[in-house]
Amino acid sequence: MADYAIRGEIVTEAGVLHDAYLTVRGEKISGISSDAPDGLEVMDSSGCYVLPGGVDAHVHSNSSLVNPEGWTRITQCAAAGGVTTITDMPYDSPVPTTTAARLLAKVAALEREGVVDVALYGTVQKFGGAAQVAGLVNAGACALKLSTYETDPERFPKITDLEITRIFDALAELPNGRNVPVAFHAENMELVDALVAELRPLGEGDGILHAQSRPELSEITDVYKLLELARGRDVHLHIAHLTVPHIFEVLEAARADGIHVTAETCIHYLMLTESELTRQRGFAKCNPPLRSSQTREGLWQQLLEGRIEFVTTDHAPWSPELKNRPNIFDNKSGLPGLETLLPLLMSAGVLERGLSLERFALLTATNPAKWANLYPQKGALRVGADADVVIFDPRVSHTIKASDSYSIAQHSVYEGLELRGKIVRTIARGETVFDGSSVVGQAGRARFVRPQFT
Ligand SMILES: [Zn+2]
Repeated sequence: MADYAIRGEIVTEAGVLHDAYLTVRGEKISGISSDAPDGLEVMDSSGCYVLPGGVDAHVHSNSSLVNPEGWTRITQCAAAGGVTTITDMPYDSPVPTTTAARLLAKVAALEREGVVDVALYGTVQKFGGAAQVAGLVNAGACALKLSTYETDPERFPKITDLEITRIFDALAELPNGRNVPVAFHAENMELVDALVAELRPLGEGDGILHAQSRPELSEITDVYKLLELARGRDVHLHIAHLTVPHIFEVLEAARADGIHVTAETCIHYLMLTESELTRQRGFAKCNPPLRSSQTREGLWQQLLEGRIEFVTTDHAPWSPELKNRPNIFDNKSGLPGLETLLPLLMSAGVLERGLSLERFALLTATNPAKWANLYPQKGALRVGADADVVIFDPRVSHTIKASDSYSIAQHSVYEGLELRGKIVRTIARGETVFDGSSVVGQAGRARFVRPQFT
């Protein structure tokens, strides 16, 4: 016997069930049916889209020593944004997650302070990282994150080509290593650093200089390199926050050629262009940078044609004083986004560009959950899965205001944007954690989610 039912447009892997019922027992989905259940409390969401809770596979919770967001607020952001699982990056300040002990310390903290569930990336130190891989995977890291660009020599180092091949080889030797994605921040450091050195003296001028210092070519060259480093190795290569449309076609060809490679883009590359750097300066600064309107349209085309595996936020909540410095190059890179990912993709994708609800569920939940080996516990509305649900009312519109946000950022590149559709409820493991206006889930209810290899 179930505890309650949700009535609405239920988006399942097999399609959308019109005016149907999803029943919840305890923390799990117990049934999906077109027939009204007998004698059960019904949460009537008729006309609303009932979707799997979002899985954001790219979130930075602990990157800043200055005014860090912390597990409670970041998972409140997630709950308010319909995201019921976040996959957190390892580039923590002051020390990154390079050992099992650090990963387990993060698990304890997130379960003490978090509101929604969390899976964790691990990373390695600059040299000798291959020896750290087994410890991280055995401790429950769902993926590894590496970078070809050095943001910080300790926290976020560049990993050399030789080290990358050794890490790949160490991973391939583990029982489930071939299923653990190795996600890359791929930007050509030689190219970028030379351009930044040239442009920095002009950095108090137009903020668009940031985009000019990190051209699409810097992503392109490093993706090609990584494909060749992965070729012939039994590993899962992943390109994080890819902005270059034609590279998604290159990756499709590489898959046909036997390389296990996937890629994500971020919602801001679909929504914004580099002109925001002129208008909002440091507040629109992220890496890779926002691109031209032509690139943005190209990304939509790749998304609608099915070549983009999933969409993430790269949520990086710097406080305003770190985003408001006179020289564009002195500002921190990264945007807050957890509360706006699903609402933006619903409005701009489903309600304006004809993205189907089934594809929306794949891009925001099912594909990232499968990618991180969290499926079928997470990522889809199916019997036996965790009852992680987001309910959208497509008939209501709302306006983005940073002052409504749970983030410490208190700024949004989307300030004042009116969206079609609104999240009216988020349910995490059977419990309402966001009621449409406030986060009601308590800190301390979060659980660490381990990958399940099949
Ligand atoms: Zn990131």
